[in-house]
Amino acid sequence: MRTASQLTRDCGYVTKLSQLRPRSAYVQSTADEGTRFGKLVQEWLEGREPEAPSALDEPWSWFEYMRQVWTAPPGIQCEVPLGLSWDGNFVEVTEPNPHIYIPAMGSDPSILATAGRADITAPIRAMTVEGLVDAVLVADLKRSAWKYSPPDRHPQLMALGCAFASKIGVEYMVLGLYGAKDGTWEQSDPVRVDDLLPAVLEMCALPENEPRPGPWCAGCYERRNCPAAEGTP
Ligand code: SF4
Repeated sequence: MRTASQLTRDCGYVTKLSQLRPRSAYVQSTADEGTRFGKLVQEWLEGREPEAPSALDEPWSWFEYMRQVWTAPPGIQCEVPLGLSWDGNFVEVTEPNPHIYIPAMGSDPSILATAGRADITAPIRAMTVEGLVDAVLVADLKRSAWKYSPPDRHPQLMALGCAFASKIGVEYMVLGLYGAKDGTWEQSDPVRVDDLLPAVLEMCALPENEPRPGPWCAGCYERRNCPAAEGTP
């Protein structure tokens, strides 16, 4: 099972290649900055006052900016574990080891299509063509958000949004991305779970061990490491 953060469109082999490629020291340090920022935000949203570092650093300044400009909706929760079954329903999961998810209550692990942790979740009210409806907000905190697809095209958010909406029992979700370095908040219009769920389950079903070349190879960030990319556009 690929976790929600490993989901990709069109070709699951991208995940495999990404895992095989060693992380450079620079990539690791930027990932660590993003993790530290996320922890500061979590402490703040959970009502604990984060301790400022003796030497102020970038994650701290990103955090200070975010709390000046962003107001959390009521009922917000951070780092929420969410599983999604192959029939599109929420599955309660535990994470016995980092990034390893299994269904709680001893259910068969094969029921899981994907699972992961949502940085931010909240029940909200959202304005739709049907009027004001109950919905959920599911958002991700990124160090930089510019390189990602719009929130309602972002595989991880789509999957976790479907899982959380199913947990709460609502038809609509709003997906969001916060870019820490740039202080940007991007949010989708309310989207129906039923409109995104088929694409989510399709991504979950993509095989991870075999390349699936096609027109999408042109924009693949693992293209130069992929034996199947030759001859594709
Ligand atoms: S280059 Fe194409 S086949 Fe290879 S991993 Fe990327 S999308 Fe898949």
